[in-house]
Amino acid sequence: MSAALVFAVFAVTLIAATIFYLFFYRAWRRERELRVPFPTPWREHLDSNVPLYRRLPEALKQTLEQRVQLFLSEKEFYGCDGFEVDDTVRVTIAGHACLLILARPYSDFDEVSSILVYPDAYHVRDIESDGMVVSESNEIRAGEASSRGQVVLAWRECQEAARNPHSGHNVMLHEFAHQLDYLDGTADGAPPLSGEQARHWQSSMTTAYEDLRHSLRHHHRSWLDPYGATEPAEFFAVLTEAFFQQPRHLKREQPEVYKALQGYYRLDPTTLWQDA
Ligand SMILES: [Zn+2]
Repeated sequence: MSAALVFAVFAVTLIAATIFYLFFYRAWRRERELRVPFPTPWREHLDSNVPLYRRLPEALKQTLEQRVQLFLSEKEFYGCDGFEVDDTVRVTIAGHACLLILARPYSDFDEVSSILVYPDAYHVRDIESDGMVVSESNEIRAGEASSRGQVVLAWRECQEAARNPHSGHNVMLHEFAHQLDYLDGTADGAPPLSGEQARHWQSSMTTAYEDLRHSLRHHHRSWLDPYGATEPAEFFAVLTEAFFQQPRHLKREQPEVYKALQGYYRLDPTTLWQDA
């Protein structure tokens, strides 16, 4: 065999391998992962710790399980401050995260790489500088999400959310909603949308956001978490918590906002969730 032929065979093999890796490897690996039966103990964790799993129709329970299975095979979990991450923790967090993409493409979470779990609310020391003044703050947080695909959660807050599904607060739904928001590069309260859907989102969300800020400025009470009024990104994350956990209330109070979220998440919890 001539050197030129050897080189040609090598080049073609390399190109084929690169094409396979870039376009087919992920799908192939996921398909292979889903051939493994969903572990029974994981199903029990979903049943005990993800209240909305219990309320899903059978077909969607299976969809959620598949998404959880992929999520757990691809994302890294790290315990912080000595916290030990076990299957209860992993499945509870994955189960809540994957509710958001139950009817959306799994690839929405492709950029999520790691989940850091603290045992409880954690302290963060923030130092900011504008070139002239350096300011320092010490915050206590229950969770956060970064544009680099990292989610941080306090396990005690996750447990609280799992125990009280009607409270409206759920740090897991909240932080993973931020990850969806990051998909177009900025956390601006609008995940990637186009055409009429984007226009409707913009008008309905802007009106509702301004209404919330206005009523809080005038010391009116709001059923929605006031934290949503801090910035549009938080508004989307807080609304996501309400959409999944208090859908009837949200639909009654904010029908246009509900419609926008229903279009984005591609499901209608008011009809889909079965009574537990
Ligand atoms: Zn937030």
